[in-house]
Amino acid sequence: MARAHDRSKSLLETARGLMPGGVNSPVRAFRAVGGVPPFIASAQGAYLVDEDGNRYVDYVCTWGPAILGHAHPQVVAAICAAAGRGTSFGAPTAAEVEMAEAVRRFFPSMEMMRMVSSGTEACMSALRVARGVTGRDGFVKFEGCYHGHADSFLIKAGSGLATFGQPSSPGVPESLARHTHTLPFNDADALKRLFDTRGDELAGVIVEPVTGNMGVIRPTDEFLKALEEVPRAHGALLIFDEVMTGFRVARGGAQDLFGIEADLTCLGKVVGGGLPVGVYGGKKQYMSQVSPTGPVYQAGTLSGNPLATAAGLATLALLEEPGAYQKVEDAAAALHAGLEALIEKLGVTAVVTRVGTMMTVFFAEKAPRDFTEVAACDHEKFGRFHGAMLDRGIYLPPSGYEAWFLSAAHGPYEIEQTLKAAEEALIA
Ligand SMILES: *Cc1c(COP(=O)(O)O)cnc(C)c1O
Repeated sequence: MARAHDRSKSLLETARGLMPGGVNSPVRAFRAVGGVPPFIASAQGAYLVDEDGNRYVDYVCTWGPAILGHAHPQVVAAICAAAGRGTSFGAPTAAEVEMAEAVRRFFPSMEMMRMVSSGTEACMSALRVARGVTGRDGFVKFEGCYHGHADSFLIKAGSGLATFGQPSSPGVPESLARHTHTLPFNDADALKRLFDTRGDELAGVIVEPVTGNMGVIRPTDEFLKALEEVPRAHGALLIFDEVMTGFRVARGGAQDLFGIEADLTCLGKVVGGGLPVGVYGGKKQYMSQVSPTGPVYQAGTLSGNPLATAAGLATLALLEEPGAYQKVEDAAAALHAGLEALIEKLGVTAVVTRVGTMMTVFFAEKAPRDFTEVAACDHEKFGRFHGAMLDRGIYLPPSGYEAWFLSAAHGPYEIEQTLKAAEEALIA
């Protein structure tokens, strides 16, 4: 059953001497599940092929962006055509105007926006805008939500709710950490209490409106209502980090799904069509405060890059075609139903959570509501499941704290193969 990984193994050994863990982003090292990460040679549609020639059905989809499947011919053609016209100008282009118009059709609350090169940049810039327009330094995030690796976001909550944040990475100054307040996800009361005591110090609240970075957790109605009402009642901004949920949980992200308008929105992943892109934007009154029309500084040599813009535009055009979402949602629903049936049949303690085209299998009695409940899931069991699926040609995110992603290239055949593998792997 076990596949050959000789070339991946030897590449990993060499890579470890050159890059921390042999990788350029930590989760790729497979620390949470063990084993050798396959080094990927190519990808097409729903499939990855590694350096040893093994083929996998891919449920990472480059952590979300590949919603149309890998190497979609129209996206590849758009990138190639753009490359021939020059890869970067450092000057405005017509494609950026077209791209901004397209993004606003999906996210009407993004009246004005700025393009950057990653989700991290989008989130740190949105926070800077919130701080700049309110003149306040503090802000609120939720435990288990990820907003990129900028200093202000790498902060853990202290024990009591009103305590100052502690850096969760060396290199993040404590003087900065004390402006970050971390609360449990789905805890409307904690949010109200914090704003009641410190509301006038807080610039905003940033949230993954459906979490993906601790696995898929749906927000409660009460929590959503508090997010909409509490910050604004205290003159603070609501920032939806839709880097993962944007174009994923619904066409217009969580805002579309829940009928909520954020003050500022962060996008990344799908919007770049597989190239490095982020976008932040929102109400004109806030975004007009960004340089050069306003005093909040933010810039980027490669921002609005022609290749990235071409990939993003081609992706959004395909997503605007009628039925584009139905196809991905149908695949996700079929996998969800099939896994639930297997869990029931095999008597495994597990639950499947899903919102749109993102889902997670948690090894627990019931769907977690926050980070503490995710941490209490059986992550050793997930590790065994992950390894058994990989051996059977199914590439899942290498951690039980992650979302799985579907694409338009995942058809009935791929779902059937995945369920066949899961029938054995769930009891591994
Ligand atoms: C991936 C992600 C980010 C960071 O984006 P990068 O492009 O990796 O910098 C921020 N927020 C959320 C919700 C994400 O999923």
